Amino acid sequence: MRFELDKLVRENIKSLVPYSSARDEFDGDANIFLDANENSFGSPLTKNFNRYPDPLQRKVKEQIAAMNAVDPSEIFVGNGSDEAIDLLFRIFCRPGIDEAMIFPPTYGMYETAANINDVLVKRVCLTSGFELDLEGIRSSLGQNTKLIFICSPNNPTGNSMSRESILKIAESFNGIVVLDEAYIQFAESSSLLTEIAHFPNLVVLQTFSKAWGLAGLRVGLAFANKRTISLFNKVKPPYNVSQAAQELVLTAMQRQVQVEKKIAKIKNERNDLAVRMQQLSIVEKVFPSDANFLLVRTTDAESIYRYLQAKQIVVRNRSRVELCGGCLRVTIGKPNENRALLDALETYEANSIY
Ligand SMILES: *Cc1c(COP(=O)(O)O)cnc(C)c1O
Repeated sequence: MRFELDKLVRENIKSLVPYSSARDEFDGDANIFLDANENSFGSPLTKNFNRYPDPLQRKVKEQIAAMNAVDPSEIFVGNGSDEAIDLLFRIFCRPGIDEAMIFPPTYGMYETAANINDVLVKRVCLTSGFELDLEGIRSSLGQNTKLIFICSPNNPTGNSMSRESILKIAESFNGIVVLDEAYIQFAESSSLLTEIAHFPNLVVLQTFSKAWGLAGLRVGLAFANKRTISLFNKVKPPYNVSQAAQELVLTAMQRQVQVEKKIAKIKNERNDLAVRMQQLSIVEKVFPSDANFLLVRTTDAESIYRYLQAKQIVVRNRSRVELCGGCLRVTIGKPNENRALLDALETYEANSIY
């Protein structure tokens, strides 16, 4: 199918004159900056944050580009990948007219962002094996379907979607395919990031919140062809990523080896925890995971959830979500935390026998 970006973008976005910030209008060399109404006397912090940050996060993008073999012009840096999700709706979906497609059970933000933007959501459930239902997807696509969200590895099921299915959808759909790879560093399969060179309608989301351990900084990424990225830049708030976040992410990227070690530890803990949990009689199934969490089907999710909470252990109750009856989602903790979880579950099990 032919993909035409111009036909997909909302008219008001196409004709939008973007806000031009002081830092946009002047970006040469100067000594005296009296253009942005900043506080020239500085801040109460030892580190001076009195200047507005680079609106296009150029240093951050250069570093990310080098690490991923893409061009800086193919990268959007956002206030979390949640910002990229919201921008996609605002760029491509006319409120009350256009539609987005999601594949439940999946990440809740796609639907929330759609609702905020008054965009109808078509839900095509994953198959019982948590795979993409290609036939169901094809028959639910409509004239006004603009966005398709694929989460791989998927939250909360933990599995990766088949590469062939993802590419088949990207090939046959003339709207935007958003591939959310928030958990890709924990997966066996590799990222589809480099496919943005072959699929002009593919947007790949990644984040510093999970494997990089920087959820508190709020830095997320979208990768796509440069025309799509320039639409993100047109619509985004001018200073969407703070100076502190830009500096800290740059420092973090210097310490990639340390991050790789943590990822390896998490994967080890995940595999151990899966084996141990599977041995409990209150656990019916531990689903295979390509992420930093396990989806676990239990005999009584509500009661186990409350029991754990009383023991000061919080997990995510997903038991009321499609295909996830009886399921809890458990993030992999440190060894002592996982041990405490197992101890609590063993005690629950011992008590529930009588
Ligand atoms: C955690 C998560 C994100 C991350 O969102 P940020 O806004 O970057 O913190 C994105 N997608 C999925 C599926 C997630 O689970």
